[in-house]
Amino acid sequence: MSEQHLYAKLYDISVGIHESMPTWPGDPGFERALLHSISGGASSDVSAIKMGSHTGTHVDAPAHFLRGAPTIEQLPLDVLVGEAVVFGLDVETAITPADLGALDFEGVSRVLFKTRNSALWQKKGFAEDFVYFTPEAAHFLVEAGVRLVGIDYLSVGEYHKGTEVHHAFLKSGIVVIEGLDLSGVEPGRYDIMCLPLKIIGADGAPARVLLGRR
Ligand SMILES: [Zn+2]
Repeated sequence: MSEQHLYAKLYDISVGIHESMPTWPGDPGFERALLHSISGGASSDVSAIKMGSHTGTHVDAPAHFLRGAPTIEQLPLDVLVGEAVVFGLDVETAITPADLGALDFEGVSRVLFKTRNSALWQKKGFAEDFVYFTPEAAHFLVEAGVRLVGIDYLSVGEYHKGTEVHHAFLKSGIVVIEGLDLSGVEPGRYDIMCLPLKIIGADGAPARVLLGRR
């Protein structure tokens, strides 16, 4: 039997996890240390890994902002995989309802927003001036009936002022992906595969996220 490819092209839209990557101020940075090493005489290499639950490309569970709400392993799998649209938005600071009103959400339940944020991954250290959704824009997306929203930096909400935006999405059961790198993909229709680590009871988890183009 010849090998069948489901997709003409697969795009990895997750950021690489390493010790000097940008992380949210106050969150732990990523650390990896070899516990056993082949070069040290052990039969295998084994690392100890330490990181925050919102490191790099990751998914927020409702429990991130809402006490008693579902945790990361309880997210609906059918939302994490399926048709998605990447919208490109050329905005300087905030995504507003006016920006979203110009887009077509007909039949769209998973939306990723490519902004100038994707270039911030090339910068050293955390950038406070990332593009975010205004609370009104978050409510717009809730009303539009989307079930998954992704953004290309570490928060859907404004730095230091992101609570209302998180509440709007997470109370509505919208799956939030943060920390995407969309610099390598053009706006358009894809299939998304977003698989956060199954850390029981966690408020969020890093995810490998792919887009497939048929
Ligand atoms: Zn998060």
